Amino acid sequence: MQPLVELRDISHVYVTDQEASLAIEEVNLNVRQGEFLSLVGPSGCGKTTLLSIIAGLIRPAAGEVLLNGHKVAGPTSQVGYMLQQDYLLPWRTILENAVLGLELTGRLDEPAKARTRSMLDGMNLAGAYDLYPSQLSGGMRQRVALVRTLAMDPDLLLLDEPFSALDYQTKLQLEDLVADILRSRGKTAVLVTHDLQEAAAISDRVIVLGRNPGRIRRVFEIPEHIREAQPFYAREQEGFTELFHEIWRELEAVGGKE
Ligand code: ADP
Ligand code: MG
Repeated sequence: MQPLVELRDISHVYVTDQEASLAIEEVNLNVRQGEFLSLVGPSGCGKTTLLSIIAGLIRPAAGEVLLNGHKVAGPTSQVGYMLQQDYLLPWRTILENAVLGLELTGRLDEPAKARTRSMLDGMNLAGAYDLYPSQLSGGMRQRVALVRTLAMDPDLLLLDEPFSALDYQTKLQLEDLVADILRSRGKTAVLVTHDLQEAAAISDRVIVLGRNPGRIRRVFEIPEHIREAQPFYAREQEGFTELFHEIWRELEAVGGKE
């Protein structure tokens, strides 16, 4: 089957007044339809750059990205991008925020609105339609941001550290929720995280990147019994601790955790 995403020989150079620096070098990677992939690596190894290239927001200096076999030339509604910061608009209610993407792309009809409402309900936000973002906790706000992204029904979700500003318990709950939703809808996701446990617990594959320049150092295929457990329970599966340590050691070898 054709991969959903194909990265072919991607390199990227940032040019500033002072210098040109090679941020990413010759990254080749395929993401299967329905796969959950995590990218881990030291700070500055090019994770965000890579997501922005996949999203069509940055044009790589070399190489190409294919989405469903078509070359990515700019942002499309097939790709949803979610960041650590939720970017909810403070003057809009939760429901108005959740439908923002649909509204901006001229797709806000009654059925789309009803689907968005039922997604909010499914994330325990039914009572929050008419509240404003400032009235919500961090975890609730991230759930709204997630609904806003999913309401567009993208084939691919790009998640750049979406859980890292949350407290531990909220983060664990959201991991399970996201894994559940994506799996039941057959969505494909690429997650950037600096939490190796999270990466190992939620993913089908974990890609370790090294820096200067950013390149793929190692690919971990997560064993089936760990993949099939919900992230929370994946952490208790046999072999999980060993896997975590192995990813940890790889990351130390490429230049530390941060
Ligand atoms: P990560 O997300 O893994 O921390 P980034 O993709 O943000 O890494 O950055 C990769 C490298 O590119 C870093 O060395 C960073 O300083 C550099 N970089 C990122 N964005 C820019 C930019 N807009 N201009 C110049 N250099 C940049
Ligand atoms: Mg980053």
